[in-house]
Amino acid sequence: MESRSSRKRNTSLVCNVRKRCGFTITTKRCCRPSTHHAAIFEQGHTVGDWAKKLFPRGIDLGRLTGFEKPVRATHTALRKGRAIFEASFTYNSCFSRADIIVPTEDGRWDIIEVKSSGAPDDIGDLREVYLQDLAFQRYVYEGAGLLVRNSYLLLLNKKYLRSGVIDPQQLLARVDVTDRVNALLPRVPAKVEEMRGGLALSQCPEVKVSRHCSTPYDCALTDACWSFLPQSSVFNLRDGRSKPWDLLARGILRIEDVPADFSLNAQQSSQVACHRTGLPYMDQHAKQ
Ligand code: SF4
Repeated sequence: MESRSSRKRNTSLVCNVRKRCGFTITTKRCCRPSTHHAAIFEQGHTVGDWAKKLFPRGIDLGRLTGFEKPVRATHTALRKGRAIFEASFTYNSCFSRADIIVPTEDGRWDIIEVKSSGAPDDIGDLREVYLQDLAFQRYVYEGAGLLVRNSYLLLLNKKYLRSGVIDPQQLLARVDVTDRVNALLPRVPAKVEEMRGGLALSQCPEVKVSRHCSTPYDCALTDACWSFLPQSSVFNLRDGRSKPWDLLARGILRIEDVPADFSLNAQQSSQVACHRTGLPYMDQHAKQ
């Protein structure tokens, strides 16, 4: 059965994708990753380079851009029976590139997704979004005719202590997630249809901001969707937790408009008072 948290994450991804598609199509503008996310992508590339060292005879298609060229090159590379980096496939209007696919003894292929996060001690603690990523990949690759055996995550081995040159075999931990990915597979077609619905929209859908805007990742449309907030918004409440959401639900956006009957701790009350009066807060104890 689908868990509450996984439903929430799916809502986020679908909103994210539908609205991003609608935004891109209707404004002809692309959502650029934030500096923060660009740094994470860069870190991912570095880990990806280490992962490639595990397959020294691997064929790297990473330089090929667009859709058709990498797909054609993948078909050629598949015949060589060697690991392939950035193999590309299309199926049912979907396009996916694999970090690594590796041929198996029985003529099938393993999919390896490289992530720059640490391998958890318990496989149950793996991020659901990683598994969704692999389920989507498997859906596309099998749809395109690839015989897939297992799905793996290649994560950083948190127990590895470097001594001398980095040993990629020790640096990276391969986690078999085949069963969990296969369990997600039946849900992929419906999600794909939902996302394709976003491509067919003539207008950017109206989607209210919610906690899903930062789950599982900060959405690239955050600046656009959250632009209605004033500079001193209730989301600046110190240690606000769920309070900004409660206030937003009541239509209260500015800190100075927080009603007197709204439950605040001492620091938050001081913060609201400062915004209302425009006067700085003075810690009387620190003053003495
Ligand atoms: S910022 Fe939030 S509301 Fe806007 S597209 Fe992203 S997830 Fe949806």
